[in-house]
Amino acid sequence: MKRLIPYGRQSITEADIAAVVDVLKSDFLTQGPVVPAFEEAVAKQCGAAFGVAANSATSALHIACMALGVGPGDCVWTSPLTFVASSNAALYCGAEVDFVDVDPRTYNMCPVKLAEKLDEAAARGALPKVIIPVHLTGQSCDMAAIQEAASRHGVKIIEDASHAIGASYRGEPVGDCRYSDVAVFSFHPVKIVTTGEGGIAMTNDADLAEKMNLYRSHGITRDPDLMQIADAGAWYYEQHHLGFNYRMTDINAALGLSQLDRLKQFIERRREIASVYDRAFADLPITTPWQHPDAASAWHLYVIRVDQDRAKKSHRAVFDELREAGILVNLHYIPVYLQPYYRDLGFKPGLCPNAESYYDEAISIPMYPAMTDEQQEQVIASIIRAVAG
Ligand SMILES: *Cc1c(COP(=O)(O)O)cnc(C)c1O
Repeated sequence: MKRLIPYGRQSITEADIAAVVDVLKSDFLTQGPVVPAFEEAVAKQCGAAFGVAANSATSALHIACMALGVGPGDCVWTSPLTFVASSNAALYCGAEVDFVDVDPRTYNMCPVKLAEKLDEAAARGALPKVIIPVHLTGQSCDMAAIQEAASRHGVKIIEDASHAIGASYRGEPVGDCRYSDVAVFSFHPVKIVTTGEGGIAMTNDADLAEKMNLYRSHGITRDPDLMQIADAGAWYYEQHHLGFNYRMTDINAALGLSQLDRLKQFIERRREIASVYDRAFADLPITTPWQHPDAASAWHLYVIRVDQDRAKKSHRAVFDELREAGILVNLHYIPVYLQPYYRDLGFKPGLCPNAESYYDEAISIPMYPAMTDEQQEQVIASIIRAVAG
C-alpha cells in the first residue's frame, strides 16, 4: 500500500488531548469558562479588542454580516477565489453577491479592480454594503489599498482570514482589524490552528462584538442592563433578535487554546517547507507563490501554477499523475460564481478572467507542519516527474 500524503492535516499533541479531557471532566462542556479564555487568547495574539467564537468560520461570517446590517436589498462583494462560505454568508442574509477579480500575482482581491468597480457602482447608486476580501493561502490582501477604496464610499469590510491566523501585514498581525470592521479565522482541521470545527470573529468595535454575541446565541440576552422588563425574576431572559445556535463548545475551545501555544512553531515550520519548495521548483515549468513585500504569509496553502505549454502536459494530467502517486493534491478554489448554484443566480464564465486562468493552472500541494522531510522529498520528486519527466 502506497502511503498517501494529504494536502493538509492537523497536528495534535498529548497536551491538546489533556486539555480536552480536562474539559470533559469539568462542570461545563459548553457555555463555561474556556470559550471566553480562548476568545481572549486569540484577541491577544492578533491585537484585536474582542473575539466572538462560533461553531465555524461560516457561522462567524454570517453573524458578522448580520451585525453590519446586511439584509435584503443589500449587496456584498467578495473574491471569486474562496471557499463558497465567504459568499454564502451574504446570501443567508438575503443579500445579493458580486465578485471582484483577483490580482494575477497574489490571487487576492485586486485593489485597483475594486476601486474601479466601486466607482462604477457609486455612479449607478448600487454600492455594496460590505466587501469580504479573502487572504488566500494565508497571505494578507493589500488591506491598506482595499480600505482606502472602500472607505471612500462608506463600504464596510469583513476580512475572511480563515487561512491567515499567524500571518502579518506591514509588520502587524492579521486579525487586528486595523483595516477592517471584522476579521474571521477558521479552525477547521486543515487550517493553521484547529478546534475540530470552529471559527471566530475579531473586532475592535464593542457594538459589533455585542451584536455578534447575541446573534450566535438565539438573539437572547441575560444582561439586566439590556432587559426591557426589569426585575422579572432570576429565570428571566429576553430574545431581542432572531439569532442562531452558533456557539462554540468548551471542548472545542480547549483544543484551540492548547493549539494556540504552538502557533509560532506551526508558522515557522510552514515557512520552512515553503522555502524548500521554492528552491526545488525554481527551474521547473511552474509558477511558485509570489509574496507581496508587505505580507508575511501563514502558509496555509502552497499553490503552484503549471505552465502547460512548457510542461507539454495539461493541468489535469499533472493533477491526476500526482494523485496516482499518492500525493493528495487539491485545488483551491473553483471560482465561486462558476458553481451551478451561482450560475442559477445569473453568473456566467468570463466575469473574473484572472481568477479563471488561475483555476486552469493551480494545484495546492501538501503543506502542514507534521509533514516530514522525507514526505516533502517524495512530493518534490513526484512533481518533478510530472512536469519535467
Ligand atoms: C475554511 C474556510 C471557510 C469556512 O470555514 P469553516 O470553519 O469550515 O466554516 C471560509 N472561508 C475560507 C476562505 C475558508 O478557507
